[in-house]
Amino acid sequence: MHRFRFWRSLKLRLFIIIFITGLIPSLVIYQSILKGYEDRAVKVRTLDVQNQLNVLADHLITYNYLIDPSSDVVNAELNLLSNLYSGRVMVINNRLKIVRDTYGISDGRSMVSEEVVKCLKGSSINNYDRVNGYIELTVPITETISAVSATDEIAEGTVMYRGVLLASTSTDTITNTIEILRNRAQKILIIVIILLVAIALLLSRLLVRPFDRISKQIESVKSGTSDEPLTVRDYLETQHIVSSFNSLFAKMQKADESRRQFVSNVSHELKTPLTSVKILADSLNTDNEVPVEVYKEFMADITQEIEREDKIINDLLELVRLDKDASKLNISTVDINELSEIILKRMRPIARKNEIELTLVSLRDVVAEVDEVKISLVLTNLVENAIKYNSPGGTATVTVDADHQYFMIEVTDTGEGIPEEELDSIFERFYRVDKSHSNKIGGTGLGLAITRSAVMLHKGTIVVRSTLGEGSTFTVRIPIKAAV
Ligand code: ADP
Repeated sequence: MHRFRFWRSLKLRLFIIIFITGLIPSLVIYQSILKGYEDRAVKVRTLDVQNQLNVLADHLITYNYLIDPSSDVVNAELNLLSNLYSGRVMVINNRLKIVRDTYGISDGRSMVSEEVVKCLKGSSINNYDRVNGYIELTVPITETISAVSATDEIAEGTVMYRGVLLASTSTDTITNTIEILRNRAQKILIIVIILLVAIALLLSRLLVRPFDRISKQIESVKSGTSDEPLTVRDYLETQHIVSSFNSLFAKMQKADESRRQFVSNVSHELKTPLTSVKILADSLNTDNEVPVEVYKEFMADITQEIEREDKIINDLLELVRLDKDASKLNISTVDINELSEIILKRMRPIARKNEIELTLVSLRDVVAEVDEVKISLVLTNLVENAIKYNSPGGTATVTVDADHQYFMIEVTDTGEGIPEEELDSIFERFYRVDKSHSNKIGGTGLGLAITRSAVMLHKGTIVVRSTLGEGSTFTVRIPIKAAV
């Protein structure tokens, strides 16, 4: 993986893509111009020679050259033609005998070649041999029978094939021009490649720059020199990265802030009972003649403050344990109606002391897969609050119900209620609606935070409805089957 690290660079990939996108069309243009020129030049040369040969073929018939090849006019024309196109011309009669060869080496010999035979039947050919650099072509020597020479067998106007002109012409001049063109095109191509490299380098660097800026900004957030949100909005993609990072960062800042707040709250909450204890102890110490009753009363107050401190510490430990054991629910099959009954039985003495009537309503038998200890904690906290924040003569009702997926535990009281604007906050750690009153009745502000953590661990929900002066209803919904 490390060996190919460089290949994972976006800059390199962009460079290659831009370079290749520019190079391919340049190469195609380069090749097609050269090939186009070659095709055109060969075609023009072939047509030229073909025209000349056609004129010559007419002269051969006019001067009866196939019978008597001594015509100076025709011989001069033949030589001119072969010089002009630096090629060779052979005049062959219809018995396949070479009447004249401008190279003078095959005069009088026979020429049995497929091209010649085909040409005598009317189909002329032309071949371009690129490797050896010549064009070979055949033109038939034809005579149209006139009225004078017409016989019974051959009617006037008949076209007779009297022989073939076989010519080959060198394409050296074409090849030379192509070479010159190729040289020039290669120079242009090299300039294009240099320009392409420069453009690809520049573009790839420019295109990747926003990502570099993101890294730089994240780096400065990481090193602590900045806690500003990132602002690279150049592309939709960078905007997505930036907004994801910003929301993650905001979440982390919020978590950090809430941790700071929690630590400060914990210190404050733990300090309050200690301060009271110190004041009480100090006043006992400084006064030498404290009556025994006062002494006892102060000591009782001190014990109460220590109990409060103990309760806060226990609640805190419970909360930390719930956070830590997030993945460790001790699931078992629990009869929720039975569990509610046991808890209510345990709470009855306190209810009685507060003159609250405690009732359980089981609308359905519920057996669910839950962590028994944690659900007990949920129920205990809710029922305890329903008793604590109630007035004498009031009621607290626990209703157990279920649908096919969830079971519900509803705890309703006829107590003081919770102001609407505080409803969202009561689940926060150490949050208390009326601090002094809550303190008086022994609240730590941690009960509902513990309750919510336990419910969330079960992938459940807890909601509260409340009317000031009339009472509150807390509804817990938890899946009957634990998620595996
Ligand atoms: P505490 O230990 O103070 O009871 P909780 O987290 O259980 O802490 O509750 C937070 C605050 O929500 C309480 O201080 C109280 O003001 C309010 N509250 C909770 N339950 C009720 C209720 N049933 N009726 C009225 N107020 C309630």
